[in-house]
Amino acid sequence: MRRAKIVATIGPATNTKSQIKKMIHAGMDVARVNMSHGDHEGHKQVIESIREVSKEAKKTVGILMDLQGPKIRVDQLDGTLDLKAGDMYYLGRKDNLVSVDSDKKIFSDYEYIFDDLNTGERVLFDDGKITAKCTEKKDGYLVIEVLNDGILKPRKGINLPDSKVSAAAFTKEDKKNLMFGIKNEVDYFALSFVGNAEDIKKVKFLLHKLKCSQKVVAKIERPEAIKNIDEIIKVSDAIMVARGDMGVELGNHLVPAVQKEIINKCNKVGCPVITATQMLESMMDNPSPTRAEASDVANAIWDGTDAVMLSGESAAGKYPIESIQMMSDIVLEAEKKPKERPLMRNVDLSSVSASIMVACSLIAEKIKAKRIVCVTQSGNSCLKLTRFRPTTQALGVTNSIQVARRMSLYWGVTPFLVNERNDAEDIENVVINKIKNKLGLQNGDKLVISRGDGQFFQEGKSNNIRVEIIKDTPKVRGGSDTLVTSEFSEGQINLDTFSCATCFNCVSTCPHGIWKKPIDGYGHVNINAIKAERCTFDMECVEKCPTGAIEILNK
Ligand code: PGA
Ligand code: MN
Repeated sequence: MRRAKIVATIGPATNTKSQIKKMIHAGMDVARVNMSHGDHEGHKQVIESIREVSKEAKKTVGILMDLQGPKIRVDQLDGTLDLKAGDMYYLGRKDNLVSVDSDKKIFSDYEYIFDDLNTGERVLFDDGKITAKCTEKKDGYLVIEVLNDGILKPRKGINLPDSKVSAAAFTKEDKKNLMFGIKNEVDYFALSFVGNAEDIKKVKFLLHKLKCSQKVVAKIERPEAIKNIDEIIKVSDAIMVARGDMGVELGNHLVPAVQKEIINKCNKVGCPVITATQMLESMMDNPSPTRAEASDVANAIWDGTDAVMLSGESAAGKYPIESIQMMSDIVLEAEKKPKERPLMRNVDLSSVSASIMVACSLIAEKIKAKRIVCVTQSGNSCLKLTRFRPTTQALGVTNSIQVARRMSLYWGVTPFLVNERNDAEDIENVVINKIKNKLGLQNGDKLVISRGDGQFFQEGKSNNIRVEIIKDTPKVRGGSDTLVTSEFSEGQINLDTFSCATCFNCVSTCPHGIWKKPIDGYGHVNINAIKAERCTFDMECVEKCPTGAIEILNK
């Protein structure tokens, strides 16, 4: 089972119900709706389709709405411009350039283009394909020198890596889109081109004021954000290493190290981190990725990322479904060699729920539990669990659809939505039975359950661990091949090894040493055949076996 999550962008190649269905089956955990393209009508349809298909497929899928932020662009031009190295161009807003009599004009609609750009600073066009440098500041417009040849088309992106960009990360357009996202109940908002913690806090305050539970993802793509990464992580619900614009502004040679550092910092505090952009770029046109791309995805996993993301590959490529499937396959393989988990002494366990969740992880691993069942009302305890990177898969059990969707991004957590209300009778057993049926659990299988006391679903109250051993399930796998028998003169001992829960109650109960632990410490108990003769038929081991795996017959 895959632990790291896949975020996939929906676009023209995938915006139909049937394509979204295929995406979910291929492994999409979170769908990204990119507000840089399309209109509200189209986005609304996509969101509705995701919800419908997710329900049909019985898989909880989160929706991340990516807000464009202050993306600086080239305005409309008269056709395309053939830029040559050494050319001088005038750059500015259209109205500031009307009086300039030249055919060498590049317009931008960015309000502060003149204020923000200083002489000596670089101007990058079209994802860094063309570099220019500001040589002079005139009256309301700039003179730039082109440093390499290239064709410039209208509406292409501009990056100002050396400048302090004064536009707010959360623009008027973003606010409109945010309101639209709230109305359509998306789960995450991603904020582009953030510079500092204040940019995130503003949006979080707004959501708080509107009493909305959406979480905020900070896209780290500007040098300024990298500088302020610690304070940004502190206030963000998740981080995205947005390597596209980051590569342009910073230089691609610096991206891998920055990626590692950001992921490390996020892992330390348990902030989910998404590694994004051009992970399988060549799959836009080809059915399989390059070796370098496969390595890129795998290395992001080994860096410790919580999720990996597809942009153009799933939105507008020729092989959108294949790219999700491929990404999933690469992640699964990479996870066979897991990153070393954080040392316990380095994990902040000062909160009750954090220590409870780490204890759950250890217990689950040691007793080989099938799942960690984390009963949660905010998803926070699941987040604390993922910080320890348990090898046992976790179920995030909640009765809130919003929380379930939020958890779709969490590493190693499968959201498990139940509709029981808190006051439902015998709620814990009802929920366990649902899990038992859904996972097809058998006698002897174990679940490690964490919950709070008091109400079943209650926020911030995890203080309880319980191990549930499955019993009373009609035997399915059990049969002659799992039955071990030892005959002795007065009777016979039968052990159904398939049902043995490895609790070793029998070992500690029997005064005659008839039961022994497995030699390697793992797996079912064994009958010590030589000692079977000593059985006195008091049946204490039979009574203490929680799964009815032991039978003693008197001849
Ligand atoms: P974008 O963000 O795709 O919205 O530009 C991701 C990135 O810059 O990497
Ligand atoms: Mn970007």
